[in-house]
Amino acid sequence: MKIYNTMSKRKEEFVPLEEGKVKMYVCGPTVYNYIHIGNARPMIVFDTVRRYFEYKNYDVNYVSNFTDVDDKIIKKANEEGVTAEEISQRYIAECKKDMDGMNIEPATKNPLATEEIDGMISMIETLIEKGYAYEKNGTVYYRTRKFKDYGKLSHKNLDDLQSGGRTLLVSGEDEKEDSLDFVLWKPKKEGEPAWVSPWGEGRPGWHIECSEMSKKYLGEQIDIHAGGGEDLIFPHHENEIAQSEAANGKEFSRYWMHNGFLNIDNRKMSKSLGNFFTVREISEKYDLQVLRFFMLSAHYRSPLNFSAELMEAAKSGLERIITAADRLKFLMGSAKTEDMAETEAEKFAKSAEYVGNFESAMDDDFNTADAIAAVFDLVKFINTMTDEDSSKEYLENLFDRLVRLTEVLGIIVDKEDEILDSDIEALIAERQAARKEKNFARADEIRDELLAKGIVLKDTREGVQWKRA
Ligand SMILES: [Zn+2]
Repeated sequence: MKIYNTMSKRKEEFVPLEEGKVKMYVCGPTVYNYIHIGNARPMIVFDTVRRYFEYKNYDVNYVSNFTDVDDKIIKKANEEGVTAEEISQRYIAECKKDMDGMNIEPATKNPLATEEIDGMISMIETLIEKGYAYEKNGTVYYRTRKFKDYGKLSHKNLDDLQSGGRTLLVSGEDEKEDSLDFVLWKPKKEGEPAWVSPWGEGRPGWHIECSEMSKKYLGEQIDIHAGGGEDLIFPHHENEIAQSEAANGKEFSRYWMHNGFLNIDNRKMSKSLGNFFTVREISEKYDLQVLRFFMLSAHYRSPLNFSAELMEAAKSGLERIITAADRLKFLMGSAKTEDMAETEAEKFAKSAEYVGNFESAMDDDFNTADAIAAVFDLVKFINTMTDEDSSKEYLENLFDRLVRLTEVLGIIVDKEDEILDSDIEALIAERQAARKEKNFARADEIRDELLAKGIVLKDTREGVQWKRA
């Protein structure tokens, strides 16, 4: 299995630190509003990466944080006249609803920054002891030039950064030893949440949060650090490396993964351009499975363009897959023979080719675009190589094969509660027959059974009409 490593700028064979296990940290969102579709891309992409490792029988420890203390959260809280905690709790809950809609597997652990302050303080203390950090008037800074490898992930040169860095100096930061130094701990300001520390009351900087939470839940060394678009490479991930490697004295992460940007109608998504969409807004128009399928239709490192047209294409592609699954379910329900015939066994063996293609695509740096093409090949095979004479075993095998692949993509083709049109028609016919025989108890029973599944019947002169409630 090959993974493109941002650190080496090439695809590398994946070798886990520990046989059969993957330790993966994914930077999570700052929770001050509904998540937007730009946030959704890494969530979907890295959930798919995780699912593929699980498909390959790896035991994945997947940790993704929520940044629940931040300037934006505090600003929103002040606007609404509520606490920062109320804002972050509200949007964590909303984010989890959206993630559920996108079929994102719950993380092994979702640490909250505000619950991990003690660990961050002790990591900062270690950095001070080792000479990598210093305190000035209640603010603790990281001594960037002391860390010899600084810039190794973003492939930036310190002196270039220095010349650009001067303009980035914000007021109150002129006390820094060097303009490249960044904040580990900031002192409390009026009206802000704060915690007691050896440097006075205050709160942690953003970068230290991830270094600490990753260490606490995954250990000093991890396999994959992912998350977020390319914009997180610098300074966030560069700073995480500087903190973790200086504090722990070892390589932080073996592989670094970043997804490409998401554009809207070929333009950068921004509120001022009026092309800013939350996942919640998309869910009013589409099943979020469509959004998921759309996100996986391109390679995760490519820029992805979001448009109504491409979403419609994703919707019809997804429907093709679900229709093939429905077809198999329908045929299974009416199969006349149980066991697979020899000719069927041969055909089934041939369809393994699509599984092979799917795996080769995923093994090549998670090429979901090609993996989806392999799923479409399997769909085509299902549509042409099955009929009402197919055995139940053959149909079931094909169904399992399809589900196994779509599960890696996080696409649900087998909604158990969902009742098929054909099943509804069959039940309506049975109800009509029962009424003819004056078995009204059974007729009512069927009516109730359908109602429980959200199907409303209406008796008309032309016969029974039904609709989904
Ligand atoms: Zn992070």
